[in-house]
Amino acid sequence: MKKTYHGSCHCGRVRFEVAMDLNEGTGKCNCTICTKSRFWGILVKPEDFKLLAGEDALSDYQFSRRLTHHQFCRTCGVKTFVHGHIKEVGGAFYSVSLNCLDDIDASELAEAPVQFFDGRNDAWRLSPPETRHL
Ligand SMILES: [Zn+2]
Repeated sequence: MKKTYHGSCHCGRVRFEVAMDLNEGTGKCNCTICTKSRFWGILVKPEDFKLLAGEDALSDYQFSRRLTHHQFCRTCGVKTFVHGHIKEVGGAFYSVSLNCLDDIDASELAEAPVQFFDGRNDAWRLSPPETRHL
């Protein structure tokens, strides 16, 4: 069942709300940017994500095929979410940083199922051969 959570960047300029079901699974990926930012996310549909504050505080980073927008706070540098359109993950999506949620219990996070993606090789349905470091 979906629950609503609230999240923010470190300095608090960017604030958002997300409706999600942790039991549907969270994701870690080995692509170049997820590795460097150690991103742990949950995929939601655009209608389940709401930016509450900080539109003007966000910087937008795109690279490679430019399918996704990596949005981070230009003051504190924290990446709060990614959005874009990738056919392999069902079209338009938001991927919200679970580490940016302010009203979730550590135990809820610890028990959430994690799925690994081999984004580095564009093999979104496969798990990478090594995942322990992600
Ligand atoms: Zn910030």
